[in-house]
Amino acid sequence: MSAPFIIGFDIGGSRLKSGVVRLDGTVERPTLDDTADRTFSEILEGARRRGAEHIAACGDTFVGIGVALPGIVEAGFGSRYLPGKVIGIEGFPLCETLEDEFGKPVRCVNDGTAATLAEWQFGAGRGLDDLVGLTIGTGLGSGVIVNGAPLDSANLGTGTSVGHFTIDTDGVLCLCGNRGCAETLVSADAVAGKLRDALTRRVPSILADRFAKDPASVDFTTLVESARAGDRVCVEILEHFKRNLGAVIVSAIHAYNPSAVVLGGGGMAAADLFLADVQAYVDRYAFVFPKDRTVELRPAQHEAHSGVLGAAASVLAALDLSNL
Ligand SMILES: [Zn+2]
Repeated sequence: MSAPFIIGFDIGGSRLKSGVVRLDGTVERPTLDDTADRTFSEILEGARRRGAEHIAACGDTFVGIGVALPGIVEAGFGSRYLPGKVIGIEGFPLCETLEDEFGKPVRCVNDGTAATLAEWQFGAGRGLDDLVGLTIGTGLGSGVIVNGAPLDSANLGTGTSVGHFTIDTDGVLCLCGNRGCAETLVSADAVAGKLRDALTRRVPSILADRFAKDPASVDFTTLVESARAGDRVCVEILEHFKRNLGAVIVSAIHAYNPSAVVLGGGGMAAADLFLADVQAYVDRYAFVFPKDRTVELRPAQHEAHSGVLGAAASVLAALDLSNL
């Protein structure tokens, strides 16, 4: 008999990831499918197909399925509320549908919480009882571990909403309905949007010609590379990003008092340009005790598979594995 495993899925706005997760956190057979132009029913069909492929390759010793999703997620149901992202997933009974298909328990988990669970169980947050995880991507995902358990309650479908902490009372409207959310200021998409806005206003930049030819090619990575090359507008935007990221982390520390904050997501590809400065901001402004305590900012260790791994971790936490 092959070793037991969990099938993990990570459904995002533009891609479907999956993998076979062993009980020690090893991820095998990782898959990545572009779903940018797919309907939700096509995405679901893709997940069914990937699940069947994993079972065909690894045997039927899988103990459950975990699914990471954006939005407000109910563990035994699916996504309850998801403004503006994957159309059709909101209100869809995903757990029941996949349980009928595969005959095993299915757990759904918010994607920010999943990434935090992955780091807490198998990565940069292992061994800590109090942890905050942030994912700097198209939005700003979050998850919180307090006193050795994921923060959860009947009212906390998302686990937490650090990405929707108010950072700027005069800021832009967020998709959640609030104004000036952290997500509108420190997500990779938000920062790239600021750069495109500056280039549209013809602020001098080494990116002017490239932007004129192909505006969509100017993204967060471009900004970081150009800041590294000394481009003034990119440096300015990056400095603003660092202050805002520092501010949201300080607020998260005040709310949850973690021992460390784990940072993941595509934005962390540029960590060497901002992490030390954000750590210095946090050391200066966070209200902690003892006063000289440092709340360490740690890069995530499971960037590529964080959703798949975290979804599997949520299944592990829910199942009684003593007889496996
Ligand atoms: Zn918001």
